[in-house]
Amino acid sequence: MIPGPFDYVRPTSVEEAIAALVEHGDDAKVMAGGHSLLPIMKLRLAMPAVVIDISRIPGMSYVRVEGDEVAIGAGTRHHQLEHDEVARAEVPILPYTASQVGDPQVRHRGTIGGTVAHSDPASDLPTALLALGGTVVVQGPNGRRSIPVTEFWQGFFETALAEDELIIEIRVPRTGSAGWAYEKFTRRANDWPIVAAAAVDGRVALANMAGTVVRATATEEALARGASIAEAAALADQGTSPGADMHADQEYRRHLARLLTRRALEKAAGGAAAAA
Ligand SMILES: Cc1cc2nc3c(=O)[nH]c(=O)nc-3n(C[C@H](O)[C@H](O)[C@H](O)COP(=O)(O)OP(=O)(O)OC[C@H]3O[C@@H](n4cnc5c(N)ncnc54)[C@H](O)[C@@H]3O)c2cc1C
Repeated sequence: MIPGPFDYVRPTSVEEAIAALVEHGDDAKVMAGGHSLLPIMKLRLAMPAVVIDISRIPGMSYVRVEGDEVAIGAGTRHHQLEHDEVARAEVPILPYTASQVGDPQVRHRGTIGGTVAHSDPASDLPTALLALGGTVVVQGPNGRRSIPVTEFWQGFFETALAEDELIIEIRVPRTGSAGWAYEKFTRRANDWPIVAAAAVDGRVALANMAGTVVRATATEEALARGASIAEAAALADQGTSPGADMHADQEYRRHLARLLTRRALEKAAGGAAAAA
C-alpha cells in the first residue's frame, strides 16, 4: 500500500498552484486534506507524477456572509465547518452534516473543496450542498467562473472542473430558520452512508443512489403540488439507479431512500433544529 513515486510541490498562492496545474496538465493532482487522494494513490488507482499540495495556501479557509449567501473557502476543513458560528446560524445543515463525516481524524484533515472535487456519490457534504443549491467557484488561468451545484457533479469521480482549475469557494443561500434535516444510514458509526437524504426547504438530495449525488425530483414535484410527506417520500427513489454491494442490494437502497426521505422531510417540517 505504497503510492508510486511522485514529485511534490507546495505553492504559496492560488496563482502559483494554477501555474503548476497548467505546467503539468493531467500528470498532476491537487492535494488538500489528502484523505481521498492518498488512499487512491496507495491503491494505485491514481498515479500522478506531481502532487500539488494546496493545504498551506493562506486565505483558503473561511466561512462568511456575503449578501444573501454564505461563502465557504475550499480549504475549510470539516471540523472547522462543524464548529463555525456563522455556518451554524446561517446554514445549519452544513455544520451538522460535517459532524457526520467519518471520524475526528478525517474531519480535521478533509476539506469541503476536496470532498466537492472528489465527486463520490456516497459523500455527505455534497448531498447537503445539492439540497441547498448554490455554486462552486473555480479559478483557472483565464480567471474565475461559477458552476451551479446542479451541474457540478457529472459522474462517478467526474466533475465540471477543468484540468487547470482549482475550486476556490462554495457559495450557498442563507437558510436561517428554514426547516432542514440530514438523515444518514450506516452499518457502523464513522462510515460513508449506505444511503443518506438531505432536506432543505422542500428540496431533497440523496447520497449513493446513482453515479453522483442526486435530487429526488419526483418527491420535490409531489411536494410542490401539495402531496403529503408520506406520499412524496414514497417517490424518492424514482429516477435513481442505485448500485449493489456487500452493504446493500438495490432494492434495500431504494427502501432506504424512501424511508430516510420521509424522516428528513418530517424533521425539516418540525423546525430548524430538528436533526441536531
Ligand atoms: C477513513 C475515512 C473515512 C471517511 N468517511 C467519510 C464519510 O463518512 N463521509 C464522507 O463524505 N467522506 C468521508 N471520507 C472522505 C473525506 O471526507 C475526505 O476528506 C474528502 O472526501 C476529501 O477531502 P480532502 O480535502 O481530503 O481531499 P483530497 O484527498 O486532498 O483530494 C480529493 C480530490 O479532490 C481534488 N481536490 C482537492 N481540493 C481541491 C481544490 N480546492 N480544487 C480542485 N481539486 C481539489 C484532489 O485533486 C483529489 O482529486 C472519509 C475518508 C477516510 C480516509
